Amino acid sequence: MADQIDQANDLNEQHLERSLRAARQPIAVGVPGECDNCGDDSPRLVGGRCARCRDGRPR
Ligand SMILES: [Zn+2]
Repeated sequence: MADQIDQANDLNEQHLERSLRAARQPIAVGVPGECDNCGDDSPRLVGGRCARCRDGRPR
């Protein structure tokens, strides 16, 4: 039982660390340009993809 709790705590810490690292990525702020996925012009691309493609919404 204690082992499972320890493992869960480890997972939580890893996840938190990844989230914090991701939040520090300056590129995640978004840049204007053409979406790598659908080719649409977007005022805010993140990772080269527009908001629609990131959300997985249909066009
Ligand atoms: Zn797109």
